[in-house]
Amino acid sequence: MNLLIYGPPGSGKGTQAELLHRSFDIPHIATGDILRGEVAAGTPLGLKAQPIMAAGGYVPDDIMIGIIRNRLQQGDSEKGFVMDGFPRTIPQAEALDTLLEELGRRFDHVVYMNVETSELVRRLAGRMTCPVDQKTYPPGTERCPLDGAVLIQREDDKPEAVKKRIEVYLEKTLPLLDYYRGQDLVSEIDGVGTIQEIHKRVLAALGQSADVATS
Ligand code: AMP
Repeated sequence: MNLLIYGPPGSGKGTQAELLHRSFDIPHIATGDILRGEVAAGTPLGLKAQPIMAAGGYVPDDIMIGIIRNRLQQGDSEKGFVMDGFPRTIPQAEALDTLLEELGRRFDHVVYMNVETSELVRRLAGRMTCPVDQKTYPPGTERCPLDGAVLIQREDDKPEAVKKRIEVYLEKTLPLLDYYRGQDLVSEIDGVGTIQEIHKRVLAALGQSADVATS
């Protein structure tokens, strides 16, 4: 089961990818999380990526393609993977197709989480993040309900960066929808509802029943 969860920033793709990771026991490959790990560790890549991410821009394609190549070679995705946040540009998608072909793999499904822009802005502005596990919570939440850590606001969830992230998404990432529609891979999901409701819609799009996948 090789999956791509695709959608605009704030569409809930990270949350749904995490649920699919648990349901199917496949790795959740999130390039945003990988980059935040590099930033936290202060690596040369992290130092390069940090200001770009804080401003809501995209890290260059060659760097991102290198990251995903390394990640797919780790050998933990024999049963499949759920990819989140990559590819974000047509050159990334083309490079990924080549890479998957080399590995004898291809995407089985691309799940598009559709959420209106006004709702995205509402969700992202003021969203709070746990510095320990990166889970996100609604505005006003002070502590992580799981580990008690004081929640922080991600640099790129500040208003100027949110605006930029949505603009860059519309310009560079939205065209991927037609790219994957051309490969007949896309299922479109209404991304508004509770986390569990949306999870059920995603499972239905994958042709899986909720009972089987979550048992
Ligand atoms: P995310 O957590 O997926 O929203 O990613 C956070 C930030 O990391 C993005 O706003 C970009 O700055 C950067 N990033 C993550 N994945 C990519 C990618 N595939 N291409 C370029 N930049 C990326």
